[in-house]
Amino acid sequence: MLQMFTLLLLLTFPFLSGAADVQTRANGNSQVVVSVYNDAKMSMRDLAGAESWASNILWQAGLNLVWRNCGHGAGHITRHVDCDSPGRIALRIIPGPAHPTQDSIFGVAFLASDGTGKYGDVFYQPAVQLHKELGVRLADVMGGVVAHEIGHLLLGSHAHASAGIMRAQWHGEDLHKLVKGELLFTAEQAAQMRTTVARNQQTLETQLELNQGSY
Ligand SMILES: [Zn+2]
Repeated sequence: MLQMFTLLLLLTFPFLSGAADVQTRANGNSQVVVSVYNDAKMSMRDLAGAESWASNILWQAGLNLVWRNCGHGAGHITRHVDCDSPGRIALRIIPGPAHPTQDSIFGVAFLASDGTGKYGDVFYQPAVQLHKELGVRLADVMGGVVAHEIGHLLLGSHAHASAGIMRAQWHGEDLHKLVKGELLFTAEQAAQMRTTVARNQQTLETQLELNQGSY
């Protein structure tokens, strides 16, 4: 049974502008490969901006995102050889939810009953609407939603929190923090995600050893 976790955004905030530099720190972060399927044909410029913004957010949680652009972008297919590599997260950028509601839903992550998962959808049109209505950078919104959905896939069930990037609903103050690079994972969430990544890596290495031993 799949659980679906959606991100809502309440359109009750003032105009926002600009994005602050995000603090980085010394390398040593664990690596997470993310295959992106750009079915919405978002421009490569905006896609790169969104990936960069999500990378900034996850970087501060101690994770280094490695992007594989696997779908269409500005008329080009940029399929990467490692799109289907085991252990990767797969995010699909699509125009909108299959079953639209009155709420503005920005993304969804698909988790199995044990809380594991590696597939998520990010919705392009709601982000474009927000960009046009409020002047917030499209890359910031898309990057924030991408980071939120990756959070679901690494944190498992019940990942929503009362503060930070994993709030179920973003209000004006959250968007304001997002564009300033201050809407982040908590230290506890970051530690949990790093543990998940390390465990997944260990599982992959064990499987690889078993496969090699079977020849
Ligand atoms: Zn969510």
